[in-house]
Amino acid sequence: MASETHSVNDLNEQWNRVRAKLRAEFGDAAFNSWLKPLALSDFRDGEVTLSVPTRFMRDWVASHYAIRIRDIWRLENPGLGQLVIRVRGAEAARPAAADLAEPARDGVQVDGIAPPLRREEAPDFTRDLSAALDPRLTFENFVVAKSNELAHAAARKVAESPSIPFNPLYLYGGVGLGKTHLMHAIAWHIRARDPRRKVVYLSAEKFMYQFVRALRFKDTMAFKQQFRSVDVLMIDDVQFIAGKDTTQEEFFHTFNALVDQNRQIVISGDRSPADLEGMEERLRSRLGWGLVADIHPTDYELRLGILQTKAERAGARHVPQKVLEFLAHRITSNVRELEGALNRILAYSSLVGRQITLETAQEVLQDLLRANDRRITIEEIQKRVAEHFSIRLSEMHSARRARVVARPRQVAMYLAKQLTSRSLPEIGRKFGGRDHTTVMHAVRKVEELRETDAAFAEDLDLLRRMLET
Ligand code: ADP
Ligand code: MG
Repeated sequence: MASETHSVNDLNEQWNRVRAKLRAEFGDAAFNSWLKPLALSDFRDGEVTLSVPTRFMRDWVASHYAIRIRDIWRLENPGLGQLVIRVRGAEAARPAAADLAEPARDGVQVDGIAPPLRREEAPDFTRDLSAALDPRLTFENFVVAKSNELAHAAARKVAESPSIPFNPLYLYGGVGLGKTHLMHAIAWHIRARDPRRKVVYLSAEKFMYQFVRALRFKDTMAFKQQFRSVDVLMIDDVQFIAGKDTTQEEFFHTFNALVDQNRQIVISGDRSPADLEGMEERLRSRLGWGLVADIHPTDYELRLGILQTKAERAGARHVPQKVLEFLAHRITSNVRELEGALNRILAYSSLVGRQITLETAQEVLQDLLRANDRRITIEEIQKRVAEHFSIRLSEMHSARRARVVARPRQVAMYLAKQLTSRSLPEIGRKFGGRDHTTVMHAVRKVEELRETDAAFAEDLDLLRRMLET
């Protein structure tokens, strides 16, 4: 780096001042990502050369910042003629200035620009846009049941089709029912099958954050370009941008641009498009154009299936089936809590080094169970069971031991134990002040009958279902 008219120190100071101005003008985020990596590498004959680490960066800086850099520099040093931007370590390949076919935009030279990058070697900067994918959230790990079969089939279709089966795919359902899981699964599948397809997954919140940042740094062109160059765009939890008008507007345009170019869009929300309050009408209707698939609350079979799969995957075959059944019955709010419960049990059993029982499970999960209490009361159970067996409600509290009343009473105690978080003594008190050992005996008796008497088991199952819904 030499020049007759500028000492190295002078130059470095100029460059530092230019950098300070760039930072002030474009903001920290853009500066740190794009401008900070620039290094001053040469200045001669009125031509300053800046180098960057990658070709992609060179192109980006050249198209977004170079003219501004040159102008700022010219204010510092009117002697500056041309600005050259090149990739570091590519000195040898640098053609002489005169050989450059295209003396790019007036005074800015992008060094060594070859024919446009071929698609497969273009750096996939869209990966930076995308949130990280959770390796556990794959189709293989997704348990399919009635409640989610449509959503699952649609997600599969999007992941496997070479064309666009429907646009957008809109998935909706309550918290923890597998929307994010399916979206990650789609992304994994597509990326594995065709790594060249640019798949971007992010939450609506992150989309908004990036957009707002782009606005602040006056970098919306880059924002638009990035989003509009993806092949598959997946936006999770779209309800987040309800009421956020500017972001909605931008989202709407991005959405339309991608649909026009026949790119796949997948959206999730916590409710149907029509029910998204605070969302512009035109956007709501757009969201419903493709396939709308809702995920219903889990049912017992799905919960049990998920627990079995997860326990197996965790290498924990030793969790008794009974405990899994208990969890599937009692943790009904969402799958995330169900997993949390299972993990806690696994952690506990590995800590204490022995198999977990129903009792310890109940203890370990006390707080969760209470929160999931469907508020079935013992009174309700007594009433239902009495009706079912056509006995008077008062028999639940009476001291009569005749089989016709004693058996229903035992069933009610058993169900109280299964469906509420009451302790044995508490249950005993509600049944005419009986002792907890009586309740324990009732529970055992009913379990025994359930194993040996199919008709009884069916009856019990029916009662339970009635109470649960
Ligand atoms: P949502 O995005 O709908 O709130 P998630 O996709 O984050 O829910 O799911 C919550 C948790 O439950 C995740 O760990 C996910 O793997 C799990 N999960 C949900 N549904 C299923 C399913 N059908 N099979 C396996 N795991 C599931
Ligand atoms: Mg989610």
